[in-house]
Amino acid sequence: MRTIDQLDGETQVAGVIGWPVRHSLSPAMQNAALAEMELNWAYVPFEVSPTRLPEALAGMRALGIVGLNVTVPHKEAVADLVDELGETAKALGAVNTVWNKEGTLYGYNTDGEGFLRSLRHAEESLVGKRVTLIGAGGAARAVALVAAREQAAGLSIVNRTLEKAQDLADLVNRQSSMKVGAVALSSKQAEGTVRDAEIVVDSTPCGMHPHSDDSPVVPADWLGPGQLVCDLVYTPRETCLLRAAAARGARTLDGTGMLVHQGAIALERWTGRPAPAATMQRALLAALQARERASGE
Ligand code: NAP
Repeated sequence: MRTIDQLDGETQVAGVIGWPVRHSLSPAMQNAALAEMELNWAYVPFEVSPTRLPEALAGMRALGIVGLNVTVPHKEAVADLVDELGETAKALGAVNTVWNKEGTLYGYNTDGEGFLRSLRHAEESLVGKRVTLIGAGGAARAVALVAAREQAAGLSIVNRTLEKAQDLADLVNRQSSMKVGAVALSSKQAEGTVRDAEIVVDSTPCGMHPHSDDSPVVPADWLGPGQLVCDLVYTPRETCLLRAAAARGARTLDGTGMLVHQGAIALERWTGRPAPAATMQRALLAALQARERASGE
């Protein structure tokens, strides 16, 4: 990471905007990557309230900030404030990365691609697989579109609120010929849908700190050998769902890989160079461990 005496007139600035943003692990990951890439850049958190978001984007232009990661609650609003949207960001109506290219702001969504890279890193694939997605929020939308693009054999969206699952199924159906179904989490059908899946992705916040001791979003005995169970939550790394899945003989994938790779793809956009994902993963895990030690977990 650059020390203050290494900043000079050539230093480029990137950062993350959110509300709140103090919890963000992106500065640790991105600064570790920038140091490894030997770039004269600094990456900082900006806490921006929703009412000041248009000013923040105008400030990005005025100050020549090269790139911003965008986190909750700004992902949808930023999509209306940039000049150009990438294809995925347009389909999702949500932006998690802004690139200021010579005064034009481009908005991208790298969450789905980040999830895909994390799967590939674990030598897993969506191609030809029966996928069940639990949840139908922003992260689920990104994963659903990437499942369609990768030509999964089928996608079932299981959600607490059936209407939202149906809306997401309609969105995917408009974009692809993949078979997509919507199921209520509380319905009898949910069990069969989860049991039948080769890949189960939990995109709900269930099991996230400080609720890490809660029950998993679906009963453990719906999961078993032959399945890959993914949780997008990364605090803690081993969620109650992943613990239960591993105990039942399933393979598991935690949410840290998606976080690393969505950030790596953003960095690649801004710099035009490959990002050191392994370094970012190490920095992320160190920051997570430091946080756990500090909170006595
Ligand atoms: P979101 O838009 O608020 O969506 C949350 C989804 O979870 C909704 O479908 C909601 O159902 C469902 N849900 C919430 N509480 C539930 C409960 N108690 N039981 C059953 N379902 C419940 O959130 P998001 O932005 O998609 O984020 C979801 C999670 O993914 C968060 O934990 C976030 O940290 C994580 N995430 C991780 C990464 C990564 O890089 N690893 C990236 C993005 C997000 P309803 O529709 O019924 O409300």
